[in-house]
Amino acid sequence: MAVGAPVQIGCGDADWNKPALTMQDQVKILLVDDSPENLVSLEATLSGLGQDLVLANSGKEALRHLLQEDFAVILLDVKMPEMDGFETAELIRSRKRSRHTPILFLTAYKSDEHLFRGYDLGAVDFLFKPIIPEVLRSKVSVFVELTRNNVLLQKQAEVLIKAERKFRSLLEAAPDAMAVLDQDGRIEVVNKQVEKVFGYDRQDLLGRSMEILVPFFREGYGIGTSAAGKEGPGAHNGASLDLRGIRKDGSEFPVEITVSPLDTEEGRVVTAAIRDVTEQKQAVKDIRDLNAKLELRVAERTAELLESVEMLRQTNDDLNQFVYAASHDLQEPLRLVALYSQIIQERHAAQLDDQAKKYLGFVLNGALRMETLLKDLLQYSQLGAIKDGPPGPVPCGDVMRQVLLNLQASIEQNKAQVSWNGLPTLEAHETRLLQLFQNLVGNAIKYRREDPPNIHVDAERRFGDWLFSIRDNGIGIKPEYAQQVFGIFKRLHGNKYPGTGIGLAICQRIVESYGGRIWLDSMPGEGSTFYFTFPHRDGSMLAD
Ligand code: ADP
Repeated sequence: MAVGAPVQIGCGDADWNKPALTMQDQVKILLVDDSPENLVSLEATLSGLGQDLVLANSGKEALRHLLQEDFAVILLDVKMPEMDGFETAELIRSRKRSRHTPILFLTAYKSDEHLFRGYDLGAVDFLFKPIIPEVLRSKVSVFVELTRNNVLLQKQAEVLIKAERKFRSLLEAAPDAMAVLDQDGRIEVVNKQVEKVFGYDRQDLLGRSMEILVPFFREGYGIGTSAAGKEGPGAHNGASLDLRGIRKDGSEFPVEITVSPLDTEEGRVVTAAIRDVTEQKQAVKDIRDLNAKLELRVAERTAELLESVEMLRQTNDDLNQFVYAASHDLQEPLRLVALYSQIIQERHAAQLDDQAKKYLGFVLNGALRMETLLKDLLQYSQLGAIKDGPPGPVPCGDVMRQVLLNLQASIEQNKAQVSWNGLPTLEAHETRLLQLFQNLVGNAIKYRREDPPNIHVDAERRFGDWLFSIRDNGIGIKPEYAQQVFGIFKRLHGNKYPGTGIGLAICQRIVESYGGRIWLDSMPGEGSTFYFTFPHRDGSMLAD
């Protein structure tokens, strides 16, 4: 609820200071006399007052006028034929509309009997003939003024009633429970929402402290305490307060209260809007509970995952160890096979026929090839055993220069062109990066077409990673084999090209060990581009 500066309660659409009847407004005076001369003389005397004078020459005529109009005062001659002034006055008083209209009797007889009768009939005064004009004017002026004031008061009362009704209907229409409090926080008015929310009849609440509904309300707003300061209640308005509401049956519930000060004719009062926030609080609590549950589940899941990762790592380590041990242990007997095959070939060739020599050649070749495969497997398994110490900054340009030195013979022999630009420095292990680049560049030279190999190595920043590309103009790879070539001992081109099929598997393992990814884009006859990403860290920057 918006809370603003104190507002002024006035009379709504009316203005207190504007009289309902101005001094210029005319009131009506009824002059009743059977003598036309008297009427003329009365009219002449009173015309100076500027009021509306209505003349009647009999009691009957006077009563006719009174049926339709209201008068500030009636000047009534006592002695009239048919119906005298007293009889006329009796009838005037018997009618509701004219019951309170002041009557001034005009009479020539100053008898007590006259006076008693007149006053009995509700006369407010007597004027004795001959009438002194000043006295007549001043007496009539008093009634004119009285009427003016009466009208004014009546209108003000109407305005007040209207304003009050408007205020109450606004209060009743409010969706929140609303209470109007006095300076000390006592309840002056409440709306029906208060009855509904708190279970009280409004009569039970009027005049009682707001604390009956909201304990600590005064404390919260500093009402009736020194905290209220000179400004009184409402000085602390503005913010909503979260407090506890208490129903008639003693049950408690959370409420949000906003107070607004109101400056009225009687001084400052405070309106308090009280909202039952049970549902909102429950919703917030539900969300919190749900979050807590979710967090717990995430924590549990994370712990489970970490456990699985640890188990996987363990299994992986075991597997690596097994591969390492197996390939290492197998090397020895294999070397014996190769050695003795060679001895037989060299020393006992004469005892062998051609077929035996041929088969022996197969045995020797097989043993040598197997030896190479075991060496590769050993190398592959060692990659998983992270024994290389912590990573350090490795400028990829330097790595490429070393690759060129290592592959110098092949480059010269194939007349290969190898270029690069924009290569960063990475937080990595130099030996692994050397293996990675050398395998990729070596393959790009090896799987060449007739044209001399042309190889370009590039790197660019993409989404927080480094994206490397090694592009060649070689024989290319069918897209359906783009995944397979990264498998251990997977080869596409048979014995036409030397190799064991472990190079790309090693590349994949190295890239993934740094959190990167490797893939290729190629078409047969159109060359290949191998891509790999390397997570960018602050240490990796452009070198050359
Ligand atoms: P190897 O070169 O020892 O056979 P790799 O694992 O390095 O083993 O490569 C696997 C296979 O992928 C290769 O046998 C070859 O068929 C294919 N290959 C690798 N690099 C290229 C390349 N640049 N162009 C064409 N084919 C390639």
